[in-house]
Amino acid sequence: MCQRFVVVRIAHQLMNAPRASAQGALSPLDVEAVRRDFPALHQQVNDRPLVYLDSGASSQKPEQVIEALNNYERHDHSNVHRGVHTLSQRATEAYEASRTKVQQFINAGSVKEVVFTRGTTEAINLVAQSYGRANLRSDDEVLITEMEHHANIVPWQLLCEQTGAKLKVVPFDDTGVLEMSRLKDQLTEKTRIVAVTHVSNALGTVNPVGQIIQLAHDAGAVVLVDGAQAIPHGPVDVTALECDFYTFSGHKVYGPTGIGVLYGREFLLEAMPPWQGGGDMIKTVSFDETTYNDLPYKFEAGTPHIAGAIGLGAAVDYVAALGPDRIAVHEHQLINYATERANAEKDMQIFGQAPDKAGILSFVLDGIHPHDIGTILDHEGVAIRTGHHCAMPVMTHYGVSATARASFGPYNTIDEIDVLFRAMEKVREMFRQ
Ligand code: PLP
Repeated sequence: MCQRFVVVRIAHQLMNAPRASAQGALSPLDVEAVRRDFPALHQQVNDRPLVYLDSGASSQKPEQVIEALNNYERHDHSNVHRGVHTLSQRATEAYEASRTKVQQFINAGSVKEVVFTRGTTEAINLVAQSYGRANLRSDDEVLITEMEHHANIVPWQLLCEQTGAKLKVVPFDDTGVLEMSRLKDQLTEKTRIVAVTHVSNALGTVNPVGQIIQLAHDAGAVVLVDGAQAIPHGPVDVTALECDFYTFSGHKVYGPTGIGVLYGREFLLEAMPPWQGGGDMIKTVSFDETTYNDLPYKFEAGTPHIAGAIGLGAAVDYVAALGPDRIAVHEHQLINYATERANAEKDMQIFGQAPDKAGILSFVLDGIHPHDIGTILDHEGVAIRTGHHCAMPVMTHYGVSATARASFGPYNTIDEIDVLFRAMEKVREMFRQ
């Protein structure tokens, strides 16, 4: 079997991507060309060339996104949906064109299913407060997993406090793999909502969301998939997945901060009450009665982040042009190489050794606090993340307070991983003298 075919298959398993690809026909990413698109990568930090390994927290932006933002701010800025003048029309067209780009990017059935939010966090809160408040009663249950980001825990805790529903948690094993047998046990006729991360930000685990969605639907529950860490790393097709809700953030997929997406199936969104009131989400207002706008505007109260949406449209265009499949293959090579190197280090412990992983390496070095690792690496020009990664239950699972995390994007190289490991030698020298 040809080597490239193997890699492509791995990438598809990696993201549970249901879409077929031209097997073996993928050309590799031209990483040097990709790097040229990202101006922020070409700088010295502490007199060293920057090695940016923190895309999991926030990715850098290509020129194409910066240019789209620049163009909007310089020429087209105005409010959307409410002006008859030219600038307002241009802003509205660009804003709505971005919605169409997102719809096509995730293969949603209609633009009505694409709601712009401030990010993943707001999208999950929207579902919890709108769908959850309207549909949950005190005997009902919400099922999440032990590897969720706080953004996919706390909104459900709030909802459970408000409704009296019970929050149940599916554990993962020590390799970072979700315990599917426990999920099956915990999924009952009382489960109304299953909320699961597609890719864990603290472990890199790619969860079998397709299978989880089928199981949840068989049990009569709706499923929200937190795609914040999945969307940047490979193809996502919400229609093929058959998920009810899918959420992600612009700033992790090479777009701006303050913008994100809630995908929801049209019939569900249609039946859900608005969660915030104000301008743009109404059709008519009187003191006796207010009627609400059509989808998706019913969920977009007030002036939106217009520039953010336009930047996100440019970002998904950029990712689509690179090819999510090719990004997945490239990042898979990076994570494989980094894991191989980490496994060879006797004093390094990796958190998350699932067979299916996206571009995240979480680790500690014996006897050295992750914050110290992060600080010394920064002196060497290497940017990584340290801390609990907003996933405290994952830290609790392993009995640590923090880990160091290197996360990869399409602009990272094998050479940069070598720089990371060389810089780690400096950390050892400093702290083990
Ligand atoms: N979910 C996951 C898996 C994440 O990694 C993050 C951010 O790190 C979030 C949710 C929250 O995203 P945001 O802060 O952009 O709303």
